[in-house]
Amino acid sequence: MVSADGPGAALPRCAEHPEVPAAGICGRCGGFFCEGCARTVLGAVYCTACAALPEVNYLETFREKRWGRRDTWAWFLGVGGLVLLGPALSLLASGHLAAGGFLLACSGVGVGSFLGQRWARPGLLVLPLLMGVAGLLQGEPLLVIPSPFFLVMGVSIHQDPRHKLFHRLPLPDAVLLRLWNRHENNPLALVGVQLGVYGVFFPLFAPVALGLGLAALRRVNPEARPPIGRKGQALAAMALGVGSLVLWVGFLWPRLLGELFAAG
Ligand SMILES: [Zn+2]
Ligand SMILES: [Zn+2]
Repeated sequence: MVSADGPGAALPRCAEHPEVPAAGICGRCGGFFCEGCARTVLGAVYCTACAALPEVNYLETFREKRWGRRDTWAWFLGVGGLVLLGPALSLLASGHLAAGGFLLACSGVGVGSFLGQRWARPGLLVLPLLMGVAGLLQGEPLLVIPSPFFLVMGVSIHQDPRHKLFHRLPLPDAVLLRLWNRHENNPLALVGVQLGVYGVFFPLFAPVALGLGLAALRRVNPEARPPIGRKGQALAAMALGVGSLVLWVGFLWPRLLGELFAAG
């Protein structure tokens, strides 16, 4: 009413700041927002309230879910660390200081990783390298040969995005999106494809693959927040299921029975 006769009176205003002209419309609630209230989430613009919703900012929701949560590698390292502790101590007790010390360091890195200690992370790379170098110096192939294998394993654990989230390390959105896509985006379709492949060899899986593919297909909705994809894999699961059933019922099964009767 104050600016009712002003030149900008008919212009839309920010829902939160009635004195500020609107800069756009929220992609979810359709409300007006000003320049200061605009939030870009995964390529779309929202008002501040909508951008904070877990289903809109689903990558952030996913990140929070995995943040500081032990992944499979953490458990693997923790159990491995405990298993190595006994041999390490008995080697040290029998005077094998180098070998015992090395195993003790491995055990420490394993247990430290399990406990989420950041200092343990470089150990995943340093210890296999140390093992290889020590093997080269001593001319010991039993140390040299497995060291590249352990190094590759160490690098893959060190770089694993879920393990990084466990250690509360930031991940780029693209990596987070890939991880979300693999684990949260219509996983039913993926399981359907796997069972569909089994169904080619074991026909009992075929109807299950068909059912999972159908269920996954009905869920697909790229417009939803978060989007639900994997349409292609859902269709592939259904095709594999139908194909396996046709193959077994129409061709392999009658042949198998024929052979059995011919033999009997
Ligand atoms: Zn909104
Ligand atoms: Zn505003």
